[in-house]
Amino acid sequence: EATDQTDVAEAADAPQGAAVPAPEPTFADFPVHPDIVAALAEHGIVTPFPIQAMTLPVALGGHDIIGQAKTGTGKTLGFGVPLLQRVVSPADEGFDALPAPGKPQALVVAPTRELAVQVSGDLERAGAKRGIRVLTVYGGRAYEPQIEALKNGVEVVVGTPGRLIDLAKQKYLDLSRARTVVLDEADEMLDLGFLPDVETLMAQTSPQRQTMLFSATMPGAIVALARRYMSQPTHIRAMGDD
Ligand code: ADP
Ligand code: MG
Repeated sequence: EATDQTDVAEAADAPQGAAVPAPEPTFADFPVHPDIVAALAEHGIVTPFPIQAMTLPVALGGHDIIGQAKTGTGKTLGFGVPLLQRVVSPADEGFDALPAPGKPQALVVAPTRELAVQVSGDLERAGAKRGIRVLTVYGGRAYEPQIEALKNGVEVVVGTPGRLIDLAKQKYLDLSRARTVVLDEADEMLDLGFLPDVETLMAQTSPQRQTMLFSATMPGAIVALARRYMSQPTHIRAMGDD
């Protein structure tokens, strides 16, 4: 009997006449703003990668996430789409009621300037049609344009820990309204000695925040960080990691 059932299951999977494959889900199948879906489509991004398909329902529901997956699996939009979805843009009704300049609604902390620039680019492209302003900050670059952008108001700040702390210390950056916080490549931040800085930043964000942590590996210090700053996180692993 068991053998028969296996045969039936295999037959159903085979590409035979009457079998119609289930359509792959698209970003439009998730509760994502049509302008975000359209912006992604303009860049050829229509079907979520597995880590994205797993992350979207949980993250769009506002839950904390620990994501573990190898490089190139699409983690950026896994957190980026839910992050942008939660952001209120200047084009939205009710924007006037939002807090003043210098108070981003979302923060992404990244270990290196290269990663910060890459993440910002992805967020900018996906959020462009909604008019979401993304600022990238990192060391070794003039403060003035970053300060000017903060004064004008930005919805999302992406940066490396040191420069984020500098701007916060100088009161140009106020993280108290940051209600979406992403720690990208957390294990890399640990290796570079940034965890104390990350903790300083986390402590300044909204206690009501949604926190998403991504890391290729989960050393004890990252697990401890997650325990301290995350609330009942859902663990998501893309297939193929060790
Ligand atoms: P990771 O952060 O896991 O290393 P990225 O988020 O940088 O991976 O994504 C890797 C590459 O895949 C990028 O070039 C990105 O634009 C592309 N990409 C991400 N998601 C999709 C998708 N759903 N469809 C097509 N390309 C995608
Ligand atoms: Mg990445």
